[in-house]
Amino acid sequence: MPIKTYTGAAAFPVDTADDVTALVELLGRAATDERLRNDLGDHFAFVAGTRPEWFRPHQEAVVTGFLDGFDVTFDNLCVLLNGAPDRCVEHLERRLRSRWSYPEAWALAAIGTEAALTAIAGLVRDGADPGKEFEDSGIWTPATGPAQYRFTPHRQAVELQTVSDPAELLTADHPVGLPLDQVVRRPEATPAVWHYLSLRLDQLPGMPDWSADRVHLASPKGSVGWTLTAAAGPDGLWHDETIAFDEPPRDDETEVDNSDPRGTGIAVLRQYDSDLAYSNGHILSTPGLVGTAGGPPIGLYPNPHCRSCDRLMFHVVTVQNYIREYGHGWRTLYLCEQCQITTCTATNWN
Ligand SMILES: [Zn+2]
Repeated sequence: MPIKTYTGAAAFPVDTADDVTALVELLGRAATDERLRNDLGDHFAFVAGTRPEWFRPHQEAVVTGFLDGFDVTFDNLCVLLNGAPDRCVEHLERRLRSRWSYPEAWALAAIGTEAALTAIAGLVRDGADPGKEFEDSGIWTPATGPAQYRFTPHRQAVELQTVSDPAELLTADHPVGLPLDQVVRRPEATPAVWHYLSLRLDQLPGMPDWSADRVHLASPKGSVGWTLTAAAGPDGLWHDETIAFDEPPRDDETEVDNSDPRGTGIAVLRQYDSDLAYSNGHILSTPGLVGTAGGPPIGLYPNPHCRSCDRLMFHVVTVQNYIREYGHGWRTLYLCEQCQITTCTATNWN
């Protein structure tokens, strides 16, 4: 079984719906047993990736009784708790109004129904979420109406494959290492120096409307802690790029040359299934995998707002810098479909 827990191999079978029931029945004990809680978290990540329908009958019992033992990452929660009954929403909202707790906020955020999004908007407007936990999870509360998901819960794994002929990049759906003249309108005047990845949005279910076929993820000079924003024309090419750094890049920052064929390849989008390795709540120990398209942002950092309309931007993809070795940490692409603006960020591992 492709579950690798912190302590080694999978501890429990996950072959039938009854096996998932047995996992749920262990959650009470897991509340006071950290090792069991971690092990179960990996098993539930596997359930989220392979047979989420087996978890559906347990949504209410887990939300109302066993969240303390349910240590599951937010992207997996968004699959397992998606569409949970309104009774779950009422329970969580009542609890959060009396005392804020992250596990309950994440559970409410993961449900994604109209009732849940209305409850979130009420909590945010009443000041119940001072740490902006919902917004960091990718949920935007506008001035009126329910909150909005600025991501799709539908995830696909990003696998890197090498190519023998660089010409293959020009016709690939999701190239890694494109020439900059395929990414920006003015290669001689752009702050972008390194292309990581372009994606065809029509192959990502749940993404917003976008005028161009592809969206791009590229880097300025700088290892980590930057935000690169650009308007995208109907041809997808960037213009009016702006850049912000958490701290100014160092003078001795490594120079890179995007025309270097090093690390060029193509990305392939894979369904979550039992061929991936589930470990530590994620799938990145699967050979060749470098990230996830779709799903929520990683949630450790504030997500960018659109520079033009200020709406929270829509999360497209997050990959490790290993997709095309430069800098370090996570590389994330967001967009505002209303303004046709993209923002790329580089954040540290944690
Ligand atoms: Zn906008």
